[in-house]
Amino acid sequence: MSADPTRPVLDVTGLDVHYRRRHGRLHALRAATLSVAPGETVGVIGETGSGKSTLARAVLGLVRPSAGRVVVAGEDVTGHSARRWRALRRRGVLQYVFQDPLRSLDPDLSVEESLVEPLLIAGRTRAEAAARVRAQLARVHLDAALLSRLPGELSGGQRQRVAVARALVTDPELVILDEPVSALDSANRVRALELLKHLRDAGTALLFISHDLGSVAGVADRIAVLYQGEIVEVGPARSVVNAPRHPYTRLLVGSAPTLRSAAADRTRRDALRDLLHSAAHATTDA
Ligand code: ADP
Ligand code: MG
Repeated sequence: MSADPTRPVLDVTGLDVHYRRRHGRLHALRAATLSVAPGETVGVIGETGSGKSTLARAVLGLVRPSAGRVVVAGEDVTGHSARRWRALRRRGVLQYVFQDPLRSLDPDLSVEESLVEPLLIAGRTRAEAAARVRAQLARVHLDAALLSRLPGELSGGQRQRVAVARALVTDPELVILDEPVSALDSANRVRALELLKHLRDAGTALLFISHDLGSVAGVADRIAVLYQGEIVEVGPARSVVNAPRHPYTRLLVGSAPTLRSAAADRTRRDALRDLLHSAAHATTDA
């Protein structure tokens, strides 16, 4: 897809999300600002409950922000109606992959039907769609013999590759991946991460969300760190990993086994102290 190389594929500004709870409201995302350039891979890391999926859902129009703006490929989608979202999805500009591929795949559709569907929605003929799907299989290292299977007849790793393939058939400008490798065993995780690198190298912009810094570090160009609903640090992946500035990031770097070093162990102790100090002074409206 040809795109203006200077305009971001995703531009999120001052995004706030509140959830209504039985007792009061939870401020799940606080003034989040983040952009993804064409072809760029931006990682979003943070522990469980830090607001990562909320960010993904707000970008995809699945939760309504209480403030802020989301611009996808130059189109302001904040407050889009369901009809306008459908039109945007039909164009296939934006796709997504969730942690559980069974949530992105219809259990009653064969792999082939799952892959063909977004192309038919985007207005391709059945013949064009079938040809494109065959071409796509090699790209995600899937065997054509799998095309007739149902999602329930695939391994977890195969299923996630099908979900990724489905997200890619329309040649999107941006793919949002929320914990795409978290449910996979280590061998399949390595293969899935290789696949993501492949996509990145082929020019697809990715927003790669994970609680695991180790998974994100090898794929992302830049990394954003979410802590209690707030983006506390954004920077080139290498700087975030090697010279983390926020105490919480230092803690994450220190506890990622593959990134661990004696120096990281030291900063982790410092970070823990800083965090305990800041938590003691934190205010919350939750
Ligand atoms: P993450 O993906 O980083 O684990 P989430 O974005 O799912 O975090 O959740 C952020 C916070 O919002 C958590 O405290 C979570 O319990 C809360 N939350 C998420 N979804 C809802 C919802 N639909 N209603 C109320 N609270 C929610
Ligand atoms: Mg989540």
